[in-house]
Amino acid sequence: MSHQPRIGFVSLGCPKALVDSERILTRLRAEGYSIAPTYPEADLVVVNTCGFIDAAVTESLDAIGEALTENGKVVVTGCLGAKGSVVRDFHPSVLAVTGPHACDEVMAAIHAHLPRPHDPFLDLLPPQGIKLTPRHYAYLKIAEGCNHRCAFCVIPQLRGDLVSRPVGEVLREAENLVRAGVRELLIVSQDTSAYGVDVRYRTGFWNGRPLKTHLTPLAAALGELGAWVRLHYVYPYPHVDALIPLMAEGQVLPYLDVPLQHASPRILKAMKRPANADDTLTRIRRWREICPDLTLRSTFIVGFPGEIEADFEQLLEFLEAAELDRVGCFTYSPVDGAAANVLPDPVPEDVKQERQARLMALQAGISARRLRRKVGRTLKVLVDARDEDGGAIARSSADAPEIDGVVYIEDGAALLVGEFAEVWVVGADEHDLYAEIGGTQISKRKSRCSGRDLGEDA
Ligand code: SF4
Repeated sequence: MSHQPRIGFVSLGCPKALVDSERILTRLRAEGYSIAPTYPEADLVVVNTCGFIDAAVTESLDAIGEALTENGKVVVTGCLGAKGSVVRDFHPSVLAVTGPHACDEVMAAIHAHLPRPHDPFLDLLPPQGIKLTPRHYAYLKIAEGCNHRCAFCVIPQLRGDLVSRPVGEVLREAENLVRAGVRELLIVSQDTSAYGVDVRYRTGFWNGRPLKTHLTPLAAALGELGAWVRLHYVYPYPHVDALIPLMAEGQVLPYLDVPLQHASPRILKAMKRPANADDTLTRIRRWREICPDLTLRSTFIVGFPGEIEADFEQLLEFLEAAELDRVGCFTYSPVDGAAANVLPDPVPEDVKQERQARLMALQAGISARRLRRKVGRTLKVLVDARDEDGGAIARSSADAPEIDGVVYIEDGAALLVGEFAEVWVVGADEHDLYAEIGGTQISKRKSRCSGRDLGEDA
């Protein structure tokens, strides 16, 4: 019979720390580890520390020292772990240090140094889990629920308030995905820029490194993994500005999916969206000064109750001024249980349709203009598929899968799906780019674009 790994456990501190210890011990037992009563019988020791007063700090540091002397393999968790580098300064040989409420991080550290026993069922699963996306890209959900109460939306009723996933857990999932061959991580949640608000941006741990539960450090850490990192559903809070330098430096893709929904202050107020189109415009200009290659995608709703022609024209003016790269447009329709259902002045269906068509026509011109600027440039692309004529279909940093355009590479027969390539852009229309990897100038293949419209681009 194979040796069952044994963990020694030292639990110090208050009842909250005790509950953390109970959780970790429960997970250990559920995964097949046994608990050793003495240091010599343990393969590894976990010390759950207290850092409340000086005496508790001393007691915790002594306990870590004793575990190191008696056993040698020690993982430290608890409040003292959250106090900067105190533990490592005193005991540099500890295997890992985490803060309190860090069951996942502790389990990851244990797995790294003392692999969990074989489980005939769980071991059939790949470490990255079962994915429904192609092997080279994956969605990474960083939070669930939403703290907003937009009048047209029932997501908070269905999914509750924001609950952010622990930063260490998110990064471990990302690492597993990249190890399994994922080249592009698509970061999603209902409100990605609110990540960490619910836990007051508490410090978590990734591979023993303290990291705030906040979008900026998370994005920077994801950028270290070597895959493309694309941010979706980023509401433009002021702290989003801090992401733009990461994009300019190439750590994160220069792409922001910012759901703006409207530009008329009156309609935004009725929608209960805390936004101001003038501020947004100023910020978009500043973002582009810092990162000229930034691609901006947004979605809008036309025909919201009370929207008059002047509101709609304000939205068109905003689009002209903002020159967004990708735009999706929906006509408003009531959803069961949404607050907007009781609003007066519904917009007739034919007016909604007409506004949607006008918005899409305007945006088609803007998108085409912006794409034309890329002709003659070299772009890095990720190859998604082969086309039926032996060419390749790829995406650049400006193209999210399924919702944005693509880059057609007529002479891309030798390119491998899931690999990056450098291409030369030779043509553009309002959705897609046409490129080559060398040699022949390719023709535009309009037939492939027919049937698409910006309404589908949402
Ligand atoms: S529209 Fe988005 S931000 Fe508004 S409540 Fe729904 S999920 Fe939250």
